[in-house]
Amino acid sequence: MSRVQRTVLAAVFAAILVAGWLAAQSLLELVRAQRALDEAHRAVHVKDMLIRQMLDAETSQRGYLIAGSSEYLAPYHVAVSEIKQTRRQLERMSPDAQDTLQLEALMQQVDQKLAELAETVALHTSGQGAQAAAIVRSGHGRDLMDDIRAKAQQFSAGQEEHIRTLRAEHAQAITHTYLTLGLALLTSVGLLVFVLARSMAFARKTAANECDLMNRNTELLAQAARTNEHNAHMQRLSELGRFLQTCEDMEEAQGLLAERLPALLRSTSGAMYLMAASRNQLRRCVAWGERPFVEFFEPHECWSLRKGQPFAQPGAGSASTCRHLQACEVPSPPGTLCFPVASHGDLNGMLVLDPQSQGVDLPDALVAQLRQTALEQVSLSLGNLRLRESLRQQSIRDALTGLYNRRFLDESLAREILRAERRGPEQPDAPLAVLMIDVDHFKQFNDKFGHELGDRVLRGVAQTLTDTVRASDLVARYGGEEFTVVLPNTTPQVALERAQALCDAVMKMPPVADGGNVHPPITISVGMACMPDDGQDADALVQNADAALYRAKRDGRNRVVRYTAGG
Ligand code: GH3
Ligand code: MG
Ligand code: MG
Repeated sequence: MSRVQRTVLAAVFAAILVAGWLAAQSLLELVRAQRALDEAHRAVHVKDMLIRQMLDAETSQRGYLIAGSSEYLAPYHVAVSEIKQTRRQLERMSPDAQDTLQLEALMQQVDQKLAELAETVALHTSGQGAQAAAIVRSGHGRDLMDDIRAKAQQFSAGQEEHIRTLRAEHAQAITHTYLTLGLALLTSVGLLVFVLARSMAFARKTAANECDLMNRNTELLAQAARTNEHNAHMQRLSELGRFLQTCEDMEEAQGLLAERLPALLRSTSGAMYLMAASRNQLRRCVAWGERPFVEFFEPHECWSLRKGQPFAQPGAGSASTCRHLQACEVPSPPGTLCFPVASHGDLNGMLVLDPQSQGVDLPDALVAQLRQTALEQVSLSLGNLRLRESLRQQSIRDALTGLYNRRFLDESLAREILRAERRGPEQPDAPLAVLMIDVDHFKQFNDKFGHELGDRVLRGVAQTLTDTVRASDLVARYGGEEFTVVLPNTTPQVALERAQALCDAVMKMPPVADGGNVHPPITISVGMACMPDDGQDADALVQNADAALYRAKRDGRNRVVRYTAGG
C-alpha cells in the first residue's frame, strides 16, 4: 500500500471514529430530550390527574355534608389516598427550578384545600355540621380550589413552555442525530468504497500476478526444454565430432553423416554434397526427407558457393534460385538454405536445407544458431578429415606418380604375405607374386629428352601399370625409374601373363607430346618372384624378383623373367 493510500485510510478511519462519536452523542442527546419531553408530558398529565382527584375529593365532601351519609365519603377517601400518591409522583419528577417553585406553590394550596376538606368532614362527622357548613359557605374552600386551578393552569402553561423548548431541543437532537448518522454513513461508505476498491485492485493485481507467474512458469519450462534440447544437440554434435575425428576416410564419414546429420540440422528435408577430388563437381553424399535433390552439380551452380556465404532461396520460379535446385523435380520453397561447407579456407562441400524444421519446437533464432554450430563443427571435422587423409596420402604416396611409396609397399607386402600364408591350405596354387619393374635405358631418355619429359613419362608408366592390373593389386614406386607390383592371390602362370601384359601396355603407351620432338616407345623389364617357390618372406621375394629383373636386363630388356635359383 502506498503512502498516500495509507494516509487516506487513516483519515477515513479518523472520520469514522469522529462521526461515530458524534452520532453516539447525538443519540444520547436525543434520548435525553425524549425522556425530558416524556417527563414534561407526564407532569402535565399527573397535574391534571391531581386536579381531577381534588375535584373528586371536594365533590365527595360536598355530598357528605349535604346528604350526611357516610357512603358519600368513600370517594373522598379514595381521592385523598390517590392525591397522596399523585403528589409523591409529582415530587419524584425532576422539573426545572421554575417548575419546582410552581409545584411547591400548587402543593401548598393542595395541602390547604385537603386540610379544609378534612376539617369540614371531621366537623360534620363529630356532629358539628353547622360549623362545617359555615366553613363551606365562607367560600374559602372554593377560593382555594380556584387558586389551585389557577396554579395548575400556571404550572401547565410553564410545562407547555417547557415542552415547546424540549420539543425544539428534541427536533435539534433528531437533526443532529441524522447529520452525524449521515456523516458516519458517508464515512463508512467511503471506507467501504476504499476497501472495495483496494480489494478489487488487490484481486486484479493478484490475478495479474498469478497470470504473470503462470506466464513466467511456462516461459521457464519452455526455457528448460530449450536448454535441454540445446544440451542434447551439443552432446550429439560433440559425439559426431569425436566419431568424425576417428574416421578412417571420407567414405566412413559419409555413413556417419547420413545417420546423424538430419537430427542435428533439424530440417525436414536436406542434402549434403562433398567436393570431388577434381574440385569441379559436388556429389551428394547424404540426403533425407521427401524432397528430392540432384545427385551432383558443378560449384558455379550454387549461389552459396559462388558468394562463399549462406544463401536463402527467393522462391520457386525466381531466376536467382540456385541452378542445382532449379534442376530438381519438385520446386524448392522460399527460404530453402544453401550453406558452403568450408574449413581452413578450403571448400569441402555444400549443405542444402528445407526451411521447415522438425523435432522439438524451438524459436527460429535458436534453430538457426544450432544449425550454424552443427555446420561449423561438421565443416571443421570434414576439413580435418580431408587434411588427415591428404597427409596420410602424402605419407604413403609418391609425389611424382601418385603411386604408393616404398614405405607403404614394405608394410603392405608384409601384410599380403601373411594373408597369403593364411590362405595357403585352401588355395595352395594361388598365393602371391612380386614384380620388380625397371624402365629401360631411362638415363639415355633423360639425357636426350630432358628430365621434365622423363618425369611425365614416369607418370604415364605409373598410370599404365595401375590401369593394367586389378584394383586389388598393389602398384608402388620402388625408387627412381623402378616400380614394384604385388599380385596377391595369383598363380605364377597368371602372374607371368600379367607381367607380360604390363610390358605390352607400356610399349603401346602413346608418346608424351613435347613440341615437335617424338620419343621412341618406352619399354620396361620385369623380374618376377612367386611365393612360396621363389621366396617365403618379403625380403627374399623382392631380392629374387630384383635378381630376375637383372637377368631380364641382361637378356636384352623389354621382357619378363621369372626368378630361378642360380640363374
Ligand atoms: P637400364 O636400362 O639398365 O635400367 O638403364 P638406365 O639408364 O635406365 O639405368 P640407370 O640406373 O643407369 O639410370 C637410371 C636413370 O633414371 C637415372 C636417372 O636420371 C633416371 N631417373 C631416376 N629417377 C628419376 C626421376 O624421378 N625423374 C627422371 N626424369 N629421371 C629419373
Ligand atoms: Mg634402374
Ligand atoms: Mg632403368
